[in-house]
Amino acid sequence: MADDCLFCRIVRQEIPAKLVYENEHVVAFRDINPQAPVHLLVVPREHVASLNEARDASMLGHLSLAAAEIARSEGIAESGYRTVVNTNRAAGQTVFHVHLHLLGGRELGWPPG
Ligand code: 5GP
Ligand code: ZN
Repeated sequence: MADDCLFCRIVRQEIPAKLVYENEHVVAFRDINPQAPVHLLVVPREHVASLNEARDASMLGHLSLAAAEIARSEGIAESGYRTVVNTNRAAGQTVFHVHLHLLGGRELGWPPG
């Protein structure tokens, strides 16, 4: 846990967020600035700044499996969705607590910007 980390504070429920899913490993909530009809962030309870610092394969697996489960409950599993992890400046990472974006509910262009 990092005292001054935004997503650690959401995990601790010190800052409000629209939580949609949680288990012992991860918490998922709606992005405050959604880029698609469904735009959720799945974060580990444990503080890890980015994918560069990640060492726990099981934590990374839990992020993806939670996203797939949420995609089913959000009704986008069949139509399709995208999971994205932005890492560092060139990819546009702005919050340094690793998180997986789950995007869907519209056609998603490829390649991403
Ligand atoms: P990044 O650019 O680091 O991959 O993604 C960070 C995401 O966090 C952005 O999509 C941004 O809209 C979202 N975000 C930033 N601050 C908050 C907040 O306070 N609450 C929620 N729910 N999302 C946030
Ligand atoms: Zn954190």
